[in-house]
Amino acid sequence: MHVLVVNCGSSSIKLDVLDPHTGERAATARVERLRSPGCALVMGDAVVPIPDADHAAALAVALPRLLEGRPVDAVGHRVVHGGARFDAPTLIDDAVLEAIAALSPLAPLHNPANLAGIVAARALLPTIPHVAVFDTAFHATMPRRARSYALPKALVEKYGLRRYGFHGPSHAWVAQQAGHYLKEDLRGLRLITCHLGNGASVTAVEGGRSVETSMGMTPLEGLVMGTRAGDIDPGVLLEIGRREGLDVAGLDRLLNHQSGLLGLSGVGNDLRDIEALAAAGDEDCRLAIQVFAHRVRKYIGAYAAVMGGVDAIVFTAGIGEHSALMRHRIAQRLDFLGARFDEDRNRDVRVSAAHPVAEFSEPGSRVRLLVVATDEARAIAHDAALLSAGAQSVEAASRIPIAISARHIHLTRAAVDALFGPGHALTPYKPLSQPGQFACEEKLTVVGPKGRIANVRVLGPERPECQVEVSRTDEFALGVDAPVRDSGDVANTPGVTLEGPAGSLTLSKGLICARRHIHMHPDDAARFGVKDRDVVEVAVDTDGRDLTFGDVLIRVSAKYRLEMHLDTDEANAAQLSGGDGGVLASTGGSVRLRRRSVGFDAE
Ligand code: AMP
Repeated sequence: MHVLVVNCGSSSIKLDVLDPHTGERAATARVERLRSPGCALVMGDAVVPIPDADHAAALAVALPRLLEGRPVDAVGHRVVHGGARFDAPTLIDDAVLEAIAALSPLAPLHNPANLAGIVAARALLPTIPHVAVFDTAFHATMPRRARSYALPKALVEKYGLRRYGFHGPSHAWVAQQAGHYLKEDLRGLRLITCHLGNGASVTAVEGGRSVETSMGMTPLEGLVMGTRAGDIDPGVLLEIGRREGLDVAGLDRLLNHQSGLLGLSGVGNDLRDIEALAAAGDEDCRLAIQVFAHRVRKYIGAYAAVMGGVDAIVFTAGIGEHSALMRHRIAQRLDFLGARFDEDRNRDVRVSAAHPVAEFSEPGSRVRLLVVATDEARAIAHDAALLSAGAQSVEAASRIPIAISARHIHLTRAAVDALFGPGHALTPYKPLSQPGQFACEEKLTVVGPKGRIANVRVLGPERPECQVEVSRTDEFALGVDAPVRDSGDVANTPGVTLEGPAGSLTLSKGLICARRHIHMHPDDAARFGVKDRDVVEVAVDTDGRDLTFGDVLIRVSAKYRLEMHLDTDEANAAQLSGGDGGVLASTGGSVRLRRRSVGFDAE
């Protein structure tokens, strides 16, 4: 499969044709200096002058050349601002195009450029899916306390003033790569990802979700950047405006184009030049480096506090990947956080598409220090491929992991005594994915009027009532008709006999066929637009099979992790394998919520 990725900036265009699974480029093209006499298309060694071309004119020249003899299956478009509406990659139709246009006031330099790319590419490739991938979408999970400005409510509502965050595909990509490298599920990790390029931002990624990021409603807030000031006392602007007689356009120029490393150093926005001059004794360049590093350190400390700790700090983009000096200044003396910096390893860091991750913490450092090569085009191509493969809507990109719940038993304290002997303590065998729950070493035989099932695993901790969860097939084997129930709801259910090593126990109630359900954290529920006890429909797609489960219960709790639980019969129907002797087992499968469902109100 090949995906065309179109990234239209305010003065340049980047085009890539690549395999979304390997990241391998079939071709790339760049257009520089749009709307100037020197505008040119660069493809390999060829340079084609296109003087004064705007986005549309440049794309009319660039796209046919790039695509000649290179068929593509989908197009991914980088769109900078998705506003409050777009919180996931979205298949583009006319209505989506209009919505992106309507968001232009939030990103006046970027969204119109992104739109020009979409219009040109759709005209040339009208029959394949086009997908918008938003810079802001990854940060849609930020809690309200992190995204709100302390401004009057009326003004906030009138103009949609809030923090959105940017560089989403990069932060999401490097977080994922860090998870692979650390061999940890992202859902259990707290990461601080530092995208340090000409534009720069830091994100706190907790459990795979952005919970705080340094850019705000616009890409001006936060770190020192090439030509952008980042954080600044707003009083300074009032003062400069008054004293210099600067109007809004003047302040815009000052903050966006004349500040940052350029403003501090007085020599330019490229850190390579600044580092060279600083080494030769230039005081302004030294200060520029110190202010840049200091600001990043401040954010790292703040985000460790936001997440209550950190497992790894990730550096990426031009400066993060290539400036050992800047990484040194930022990451030294973070021992108090548990991050022990290794100077030699830092100096030797080299990352590439083939080797995207390098570590520069000391062996044994509790907090790992990583450099990850970002690849925004690949992240965009990946999302475009996912959506174009049949998913139809915004929430389609938000996949829910599946776990298969094999038959199992919950016991009271008294039942443990009766079955395993007085005072017996359940022995944890394996933690389950839902926090605090564990599978036990202990197993029991379940006896019904017709048959018996041996080796049914006990799950801990102990509960106030006994409960035996089985599948439909198990019910037939036992000869009992158990109702489909939520876990914990055992009133008016049939009883069953349990046999253990120290005795047997006949329960008067407690046998249920567990209702399929999805555990969600409140943040997930907000993202999917559902509430606790909503009943939804989900589609499972494994290996081209398209199976829909209706009547799926949503359970929301702050102690839950996002996961759908199926019993073994349902998993078999969906051709999902898993199961591990009675433990809830992740399958590698995933599901999508569908809008067409009872009580599911996502709009
Ligand atoms: P990006 O926006 O991610 O392409 O990053 C571009 C910036 O990375 C440039 O403006 C440089 O300041 C910085 N950069 C790239 N390579 C190096 C290097 N070897 N040393 C220091 N800074 C670098």
